[in-house]
Amino acid sequence: MLDYRRLGLRAGLEIHQQLDTKRKLFCNCPTRLRSADESTYEIRRGLHLTESELGEIDRAALEEARRRRLFIYKGYDTTCLVENDEEPPQPLNQEALDVALEVALLLNMTPVNEVHTMRKIVIDGSNTSGFQRTAFVASNGKISTSDGDIGIATLCLEEEAAQKVAEDKNGVMYSLDRLGIPLVEIATKADITTPKQARIVAEGFGMMLRSTGKVKRGIGTIRQDINISIAEGARAEIKGVQALNLIEAIVEREVLRQVNLLKIRDELKRRGAKRVKTEIINVSDVFASTKCGVIKKALKKGVFAVRLPKFGGLVGQEIQPGRRFGAEFADRAKRFGIGGVFHTDELLGYGITNAEVTTLKKRVHAAPEDCVIFVAGERSKAALALEGVVERANMALKGVPEETRRALEDGNSAYMRPLPGAARMYPETDVLPVPISQKRLKRIKSALPELFPERRARYIKEYALSEEFAGLMSRSSKARLFERIVALGISPTLVVRTLEATTSELSREGVPVQSLKDEHFMEVFKLIKVNRIAKEGIPLVLRSLAANPSKTAEEVALELGLRTPDRKEIESIIDKVVQSKEGFIRERGLRAVKPLMGVVMKQLRGKADGRLVNSILKEKITAIMREK
Ligand SMILES: [Zn+2]
Repeated sequence: MLDYRRLGLRAGLEIHQQLDTKRKLFCNCPTRLRSADESTYEIRRGLHLTESELGEIDRAALEEARRRRLFIYKGYDTTCLVENDEEPPQPLNQEALDVALEVALLLNMTPVNEVHTMRKIVIDGSNTSGFQRTAFVASNGKISTSDGDIGIATLCLEEEAAQKVAEDKNGVMYSLDRLGIPLVEIATKADITTPKQARIVAEGFGMMLRSTGKVKRGIGTIRQDINISIAEGARAEIKGVQALNLIEAIVEREVLRQVNLLKIRDELKRRGAKRVKTEIINVSDVFASTKCGVIKKALKKGVFAVRLPKFGGLVGQEIQPGRRFGAEFADRAKRFGIGGVFHTDELLGYGITNAEVTTLKKRVHAAPEDCVIFVAGERSKAALALEGVVERANMALKGVPEETRRALEDGNSAYMRPLPGAARMYPETDVLPVPISQKRLKRIKSALPELFPERRARYIKEYALSEEFAGLMSRSSKARLFERIVALGISPTLVVRTLEATTSELSREGVPVQSLKDEHFMEVFKLIKVNRIAKEGIPLVLRSLAANPSKTAEEVALELGLRTPDRKEIESIIDKVVQSKEGFIRERGLRAVKPLMGVVMKQLRGKADGRLVNSILKEKITAIMREK
């Protein structure tokens, strides 16, 4: 294991959490996600960047502009001219600002006196306007975790970007449904010093945010970016981590990558490697009769190579488990629509022969210690790709480059773009500043939500729930519903079982439980309360309600014939069973109760209370036993 303290690991999290508001941040559209095939219109844009907007030219913007791509946006009957960037934004959503302030206060942060909306340049087309609107809301707080306090630098209220739905080398297709959903962006200070601590802090944020009951839940509604550096390395910002269980691995593997890049730097230094020149050589003739499929296909366009002096053997070295240094070059080349990237450290697997490698090396005057990287494709694209490769090689001489990276599913990461420069924000003049009054803060402060650990303790104390059930229910999105139902005078344990276990069992059976609303559950428990149905009938009623959500629980119970039979009716059913099994009862005595329970309950189909049936059954069996 690596010694993180000695390596000087510093990490910070940037959490993006979507808010569950009715309307979007700068228009009145609902915050509802749609499927791209429900789209009702489409707009097309090129990337429109102007130098005046950028101030000084941003490295990341420059690289994106070089790729010249087309952006297509899918619109819906739930999006409007604001998302299309055909109309100026409306005033900042006050509901969203309230939630952002609530989160800020929960994190002991200091809110600003006046909220100013700014424009942050985005270059990947994820916003139709070419920038993301962001409002700085609060600064300087902390979150307490089981692994210590972590400082929080800033909290911003932002508009969510459009969702990418498809991508090829010519362009990207985005969906406008997500664009403009409010989100809070919380940036911690780089106080995190171990991978494990990163996970604990991320979990802490997740719990705190869900405690408010005002954030969206489910996949993609919370994303983390992680800034990671070691003392001798450089800051890498790893974007788009959705799974909490990946955070630890991502930090571990980024540290490993930086450590290995530093080793490569030291080896290059030892070999006396110098700055690499961009000398792109057409080597198509070397592969004129190649058996390598990718190259054969691209031969008409061409094969182009660059020489990396003294890089031989290093490009094939692993820098993350299953990922070689060569992948860092390929990541950069692929951004220009180049498919095949090859290097002389690993060729034979692709059907390229030793003879071809020898000729290639000769052709570019490569010494034994050199590495040759070559790509197959159109000359203009190949040139851009190889310029990217040389740029990356020169960074290797210095060590670790600062960059934005994309999280991969195994905890590794791939290059995305350079870290954006700092001069990317300028004021959004279409949105008026919003002063934050002391009165408003006081109102929010007086109604701060109960956090999960507090709620859990209260559930154990007030409702005598087990630790397990209290933990489950306190973190559940149905916690409020739970309290409403228990207030009817229903057993808290039964309510937890129904809201958590029963619904997930039904869901596993394919019942559309998501169509069950709070009021459905309330109705069911009101019927229980007045003994209109037995608790055994709950799953049946819920199953039927989920399929027919427009009906009431009462209607469904009637249809199912779930009216609770009275004692007389139960007795008559039990009498029949007992008579038909008399021999069995005489043989077994009270041990016959259990098997006969099953028979009787089956006939009652969940319509009667099990305890009542059990006691009647016992009476009847005892009576028979006494007869003799
Ligand atoms: Zn809209």
